[in-house]
Amino acid sequence: MKKRFLKFLITAGPTREGLDPVRYLTNRSSGKMGYALALAAKKTGGDVILVSGPVSLEAPVGVKVIPVVTASEMHRKVMAHYKSADVIIKVAAVSDYRPSVVSLKKIKKDKKTLTLKLVKNPDILKELGKKKKPSQILVGFAAETNDIFTYGFNKLVEKNCDYMVVNKVGKNTGFEKDDNHVFVFSRDGKKTEIKGSKKNIAEKIIKLII
Ligand code: C5P
Repeated sequence: MKKRFLKFLITAGPTREGLDPVRYLTNRSSGKMGYALALAAKKTGGDVILVSGPVSLEAPVGVKVIPVVTASEMHRKVMAHYKSADVIIKVAAVSDYRPSVVSLKKIKKDKKTLTLKLVKNPDILKELGKKKKPSQILVGFAAETNDIFTYGFNKLVEKNCDYMVVNKVGKNTGFEKDDNHVFVFSRDGKKTEIKGSKKNIAEKIIKLII
C-alpha cells in the first residue's frame, strides 16, 4: 500500500503588536524551536506550512513559509490553512494583548506618565481546539518558569489539545537558546521528558506525535 504523508501546519516565532510607526510590543521568542520542528516534519516526507512571526532564521528547504507580523494576521492565516492539515503545532509565542489603538504619528514623550490600553488578541490555539476534527492532531506549547506540570496539564485540557509541550524557561533553556528542556503531556496524563538541542527535541516530538 502507498504510504500517505502527513500535512503539517506549524506556527513559530513571536508576534509584534504596533504602537506607532516606530514602536511595537513583542516577546523574546527566536523561532528556533518552531523552525526545528518544521525541518523535522519536512523530513517525514510530508507537506509543511510554517506561519512565522518576524525572526532572523533561514526558511527550512521545502517548507512553505507564510510570514506574518501581528497576532491577528497569524490568526487569519492559520484559519485559512488549518482545515487540510493532519497535524497542527502551535509553537508561536503569540502576544496575548495588543494596543487598543495604533497611533498614526510617533507618540511624543511630553507627558510624565503614559498609560497604554491593551485589548486581548484571539487565542488561536483555543479556537483550533474547538474547531478541529477528531482526526486532526493538535499540539500546543507553553513556556513556564514554575508549576510546569499543573500549568501544562491545565492548558492541554483548556485548549483541547492532543499534546501540550511545556517549555521550562530557565537560565540555559527556553527563549533564544539552542538547547531546551521540555515535557510532552498527552491526554492520557502521560508525560515524556526531553532535553537537548532544539533540533534533537524537534525530531523526538515529531516521532512521538505521529
Ligand atoms: O496560554 P499560553 O499563551 O501559555 O498558551 C500557549 C499556547 O497557546 C501556544 O501553543 C501558543 O501558540 C498558543 N496561543 C495562541 N494564541 C494566543 C496565545 C497563545 O494560539 N493568543
